Amino acid sequence: MALKTAQQYIDSLRKVKSDVWLFGEKIDNFVDHPVIRPSINAIAMTYKVAHEPEWEDLATTTSNLTGEKVSRFSALFMSCDDMVKKVKLQRMLGQRTGCCFQRCVGMDAINAVYSTTFEIDEKHGTKYHERFKEWLKYIQQNDLCVQGAMTDVKGDRGLRPHEQEDPDLFVHVVEKRDDGIVIRGAKAHQTGSVNSHEMLIMPTLTMREGDEDYAVCCALPSDSKGVHFIYGRQSCDKRKLEEGDIDVGNAMFGGQEALTVLDDVFVPWDRVFMCGEVEFSNPVVERFAGNHRQSYGGCKPGIGDVLIGATSAMTDYNGVAKASHVRDKIAEMNHLVETLHACGLAACTQGSKTKAGNYQPDILMANVCKMNVTRFPYELSRLAEDLAGGALVTIPSECDLRNPEIGKYVQKYFKAKDVGAEERMRMLSLINNMTFGLNAPSYRTESMHGAGSPQAMKVMIERQSNMETKKKAARKLAGIDPRENLED
Ligand SMILES: Cc1cc2nc3c(=O)[nH]c(=O)nc-3n(C[C@H](O)[C@H](O)[C@H](O)COP(=O)(O)OP(=O)(O)OC[C@H]3O[C@@H](n4cnc5c(N)ncnc54)[C@H](O)[C@@H]3O)c2cc1C
Repeated sequence: MALKTAQQYIDSLRKVKSDVWLFGEKIDNFVDHPVIRPSINAIAMTYKVAHEPEWEDLATTTSNLTGEKVSRFSALFMSCDDMVKKVKLQRMLGQRTGCCFQRCVGMDAINAVYSTTFEIDEKHGTKYHERFKEWLKYIQQNDLCVQGAMTDVKGDRGLRPHEQEDPDLFVHVVEKRDDGIVIRGAKAHQTGSVNSHEMLIMPTLTMREGDEDYAVCCALPSDSKGVHFIYGRQSCDKRKLEEGDIDVGNAMFGGQEALTVLDDVFVPWDRVFMCGEVEFSNPVVERFAGNHRQSYGGCKPGIGDVLIGATSAMTDYNGVAKASHVRDKIAEMNHLVETLHACGLAACTQGSKTKAGNYQPDILMANVCKMNVTRFPYELSRLAEDLAGGALVTIPSECDLRNPEIGKYVQKYFKAKDVGAEERMRMLSLINNMTFGLNAPSYRTESMHGAGSPQAMKVMIERQSNMETKKKAARKLAGIDPRENLED
């Protein structure tokens, strides 16, 4: 089947009969719901760019499984260059949506599970890898959107999964049958889950002896029986229900997270890719984390570009663009986003081939990339707030602007250099949206916690930093160990 257009993707979701809950109500038509639709539009953009000749090389590739042209979001990274293209694609999509476009989690999960299943089969003689390839062909041929489902709700973080008072706080197998398994639990903060056709479930952390039932990896359609989505709130989300679009900031696009409840969901064996092999939970978690931490070197710089553009426009409106401290701060913002992007690219170019044949980014660089992501968007937001001025949090509403009685005052007192009040309000609202409004989860909290909290990166950086080599270099130069002999 050909690559879906944006409209075909949106229409295809109408056939997905997921159980979606928002503000305590069951939502039958989630596709047209005003709170949800912007997040669907953001994923639709990933489908749109696949048909744009200018971006075809980044947005599509030839599948190593089918030989057909497929979306990069459902493809395996078969070279370092594939990963470079992924990061460039993500930056472009960040610029075009100004928010999380949600489809990367699945792509990064697909690549982690592909290489891990190969290694499980090698050790245990199982058939997971062949099953996974068949499932992936189905995803590619139907150009489906996949949600990467890793994070469990976790209860007491100090206890192992099997030690929790409630055994369902980590997703686990509750029944093994001849035809498949039954799983129970919940995945938290699931990006784009309502907007995806399928979910790929993975263990959330390294499982040990005793956690066998929790070492489970499988795929299931989003509207499987027993799956319930409880939509996550976003700051100012009810603004999307109001008339007008100024106060929303970015009315067309938005992110999405939901709590995914798996209440005794049946999964046939041909969709099970790990079941009890505890020693392979670590590779799948680390590989997914590596891929995803590196992905942030694409999307977050792209969103940052929009924030810089909006901030710069505000300095024009306020007549301060030429001031030296303003130019210095804008340069600082550009330095921050380019540093993020540079780390993402570095992780790709230094990648390596897995036993299964697909590629992984350099783990140290990917973790450094994500560690910067936990910090820089906050600094970028601080600089944007500084330069945009206090109106960022005090602008009147669109209703006031349009009001026949007081609208004239808003027009008069909010106009700025060369622009009317409406343009200034729109730009302020966009910055508000990205820094602490509707899309702040995409830009800030997701930067902090997505693909793991900062400490998870610190642990990986510590592990990967090869301290012995560094100490050896120092000992040599200090003359403690024999110095280099230049005459050799
Ligand atoms: C916007 C957003 C989108 C996301 N999208 C997805 C997604 O699509 N798919 C997915 O699977 N996940 C997703 N996540 C989940 C993300 O990976 C987790 O938020 C992250 O791993 C942190 O887990 P947590 O939120 O449970 O926080 P916690 O794990 O509770 O962390 C809170 C703090 O406690 C510390 N901490 C936790 N455990 C311990 C411990 N044992 N000992 C000491 N300190 C500890 C952490 O370091 C952190 O500082 C998303 C998260 C966000 C915010």
